Amino acid sequence: MVSTDGQQLYMHRGMGHVIDVFTPDHLEKLKGDAAIGHVRYSTAGGSHLKNAQPIAVDYARGSIAIGHNGNLTNADALREKLEARGSIFQSVADTEVIVHLIAMSTQRLVEDRVADALGRVRGAYSLLCLTEKKMIAARDPMGVRPLCIGRTKDGGAWVVASEATSFDLIDAKLEREVEPGEMIVIDRKHGLRSVKPFPPAPPKKCIFEYVYFARPDSVIDGVSVYEARKNMGRALFGQAPVEADMVVPVPDSGVPATIGYAEASKLPFEMALVRSHYVGRTFIEPQQSIRHFGVKLKLNPVSEALRGKRVVVVDDSIVRGTTSRKIVSMLRAAGAAEIHMRISSPPTAWPCYYGVDTPTRAELIASNHTLDEIRQYITADSLEYLSLDNLVESVNRSRPGNGASKAGHLPVVSDAKDEGYCHACWSGEYPIRFVPHPRARQMRLLDS
Ligand code: AMP
Repeated sequence: MVSTDGQQLYMHRGMGHVIDVFTPDHLEKLKGDAAIGHVRYSTAGGSHLKNAQPIAVDYARGSIAIGHNGNLTNADALREKLEARGSIFQSVADTEVIVHLIAMSTQRLVEDRVADALGRVRGAYSLLCLTEKKMIAARDPMGVRPLCIGRTKDGGAWVVASEATSFDLIDAKLEREVEPGEMIVIDRKHGLRSVKPFPPAPPKKCIFEYVYFARPDSVIDGVSVYEARKNMGRALFGQAPVEADMVVPVPDSGVPATIGYAEASKLPFEMALVRSHYVGRTFIEPQQSIRHFGVKLKLNPVSEALRGKRVVVVDDSIVRGTTSRKIVSMLRAAGAAEIHMRISSPPTAWPCYYGVDTPTRAELIASNHTLDEIRQYITADSLEYLSLDNLVESVNRSRPGNGASKAGHLPVVSDAKDEGYCHACWSGEYPIRFVPHPRARQMRLLDS
């Protein structure tokens, strides 16, 4: 976290859970009345303090800190150019490129320097910058990653966050989303100002936020994530019904879609897989062996509910297939007679270059296997994924006034390609060109 008292920035960063990293003592030392913070979960091999955010630097015009959600697609190319001109990078984070571009800009005002820098980067970003006297929030022209503005109920202080659920914690109210391509400048003198330094682009908001990434209690772009997930479950039943005795969610992310599936199918909803909340997400364990163990620690079947039953299991996605395979074998060992896997999104066949942590294409099971091969790998009796059109329809239907709560089969009415969402992880249609670039050589860190 980085704070400012109007004169100087104060920074504290650490590895681990927020509650452990920010002790009351640290919070006391983070002086001032404005601050930005960032919580990053590691991508394979990248879990080092030096890659933690916000990144903060002192440069000719003072200090600046940046927290960034998303991924830049031309960061490596820009970095190479900057390094050729003598720039020295501290981290491997693409965000540091933005810092260098801000420092090098010839503009006088910091908001113009930020706009100048952002004008040169491509990709997905929702970011927050802090200087001694200003806070700047910016969202990329396609609005790939979410960002919203709120205001505290008591003092009327401005707050900015990826998800408005965080506002509830501090008694703040959502005011609005930061628009794609918009920059918000907040300072003590002028309050909040909106600037639009970039020409408008057709929006390409990440639809995976609705499937998995966002919290279920979030509302993104006016759409309740919880409602959208329930509609995905309803649509999944409409698309892929099956004779069964019960529907079981993969907790926690599969729960709302399972409620929708159960409601539409009229099958009983059973919590026959119990999740321990004391273990982190298995996905982020870089080693496959540890990941296998993680699934075991995290989920446990309820044999009494499963014995002899035909079970529909609903999860939001299959990435490598490890989780589903473990779950199916766990359920079989617990006595389930049939296991029908239903996934509330299409097959994940393409890596995300815009900020969702997915493995390489080769590791994505759906990139090189047919539906039946995946079914065989996970050893399920049947496997179905929600189609992209039905997914888009489920989200759109959750928009207030669009028949959000109607149960039942969803007709395919939309063409997913025209709906203003990024769905590259399923379709391979990348709205922002990704420029593959040989990775710069980096030193190996042994001390963290
Ligand atoms: P896998 O075992 O690799 O097939 O992972 C599938 C599980 O990972 C599903 O239960 C998803 O809920 C979860 N998942 C999907 N995408 C992500 C992500 N980007 N980060 C963390 N977990 C994810």
